[in-house]
Amino acid sequence: MKDDNFGEWYSEVVVNGEMIEYHDISGCYILRPWAMSIWEVMQTFFDAEIKKMKIKNCYFSLFVSSGVLQKEKDHIEGFAPEVAWMTKAGDSDLEMPIAIRPTSETVMYPYFSERIRELGDLPLRLNQWCNVVRWEFSNPTPFIRSREFLWQEGHTAFATKEEADTEVLDILELYRRIYEEFLAVPVIKGKKSEHEKFAGGLYTTTVEAFVSNTGRGVQGATSHCLGQNFAEMFQINFETEEGEESMVWQNSWAYTTRTIGVMIMVHGDDKGLVMPPKVASVQVIVIPVPYKDANSQGIFDACAATVKSLEEAGIRAEADYRDNYSPGWKYSQWELKGVLLRIEIGPKDLANNQVRAVQRDNSAKIDIPMADLTERVKEMLNNIQQNMFDVAKEKRDACIQVVHTWEQFVEALAQKKMILAPWCDEEKDVKARTKGDMGAAKSLCSPFQQPELPEGTKCFASGKPAKKWTYWGRRY
Ligand code: AMP
Repeated sequence: MKDDNFGEWYSEVVVNGEMIEYHDISGCYILRPWAMSIWEVMQTFFDAEIKKMKIKNCYFSLFVSSGVLQKEKDHIEGFAPEVAWMTKAGDSDLEMPIAIRPTSETVMYPYFSERIRELGDLPLRLNQWCNVVRWEFSNPTPFIRSREFLWQEGHTAFATKEEADTEVLDILELYRRIYEEFLAVPVIKGKKSEHEKFAGGLYTTTVEAFVSNTGRGVQGATSHCLGQNFAEMFQINFETEEGEESMVWQNSWAYTTRTIGVMIMVHGDDKGLVMPPKVASVQVIVIPVPYKDANSQGIFDACAATVKSLEEAGIRAEADYRDNYSPGWKYSQWELKGVLLRIEIGPKDLANNQVRAVQRDNSAKIDIPMADLTERVKEMLNNIQQNMFDVAKEKRDACIQVVHTWEQFVEALAQKKMILAPWCDEEKDVKARTKGDMGAAKSLCSPFQQPELPEGTKCFASGKPAKKWTYWGRRY
């Protein structure tokens, strides 16, 4: 049960819902077609959007030499504990161990340095779809925290900081759309604290989601302005119109298969997965319900015709004709896989030239004349998608708690809240003061939409003058 033992529920639902299977290396998973198809829907959307922004796809190597990996000091300090190294080829030791990319700043920027010479070479805007490896030691969780994961990583260079700043927010907006419009998961846009920002970057923006069952925040996706740190280390310079040498301004941004885990955690229920129609590879499952002496062939034909009409209208539909399973078994199987709309066709429907549509979320059953099929199904799918977002937002909003003092903060944390507090902007000891079995509280983000901060407001943690409102909580 999701409410009783969330961890167990999640591990079961990702396997039984056919999303993953375990691999014999901890923290690595087999993504089954049911999960991969969600990734592909998001990929199609995102890829088209960045192409409109004139960002081009490319592919760099999986391997990084230790020399370039260590070039940016803060960056390598942030990633060092998680970097996986290849030390052998067959039986022979390599002369120099080779790292596997945890992210590709250091893989790509020597190329940027070669490629960029003058103003005309800018902006340089590249993206790659690939896997990365981060040998995480905290609890691996399928999709949410794995050791190898899929992502896109964008890497761009501009002549001015203004252009870089603009892109950071344009990309963040695409991440918001992935969560809110596709996965029906509400997120908060904001800026990470200095302590939580990307290692080696100038500032990090984020979309933060929240899992109300566990009271944990999740860093949904991040869009970083790298400033000029990497440009300095990798000598990525261009000649300005005035003939002066100048360093570029850089960004990097990524979202990963974690998105799928957040969707499962937020929407899943005791029956299994709940798949927002916009990302489901099967939006409507059609199930024949034949009776002993009824016209089975007629029913099967009606199912095929229904699928065809739906597909022609751009709806992803499939029929489950397997004759070794009962209709009842199929209903629960597709509910477990999270398909939200089921169409049943039995002898009575055949006779009346109609279908019966059943919604997974509220078990509402309605009979739809074949003539109205595609219109009605489209409308139902749109409503389901919107409703999923509204319900998730209501649930998330109910978890947000505003606090002003340390006592209120501790109490809200015990109640698994997403806490909004006035803050002095010095990370210091919140983590240490909240350490416990459940994990410490950390800053999640300072939302772009700041509530008013009256003069004289004190920081909840230090009592010093507060500079901004910031979200806090435990997190994945
Ligand atoms: P970063 O390059 O560190 O900013 O990571 C980009 C995004 O990857 C983060 O915002 C997370 O949403 C996601 N992410 C980080 N670590 C993992 C992981 N171990 N498994 C899956 N996704 C991750």
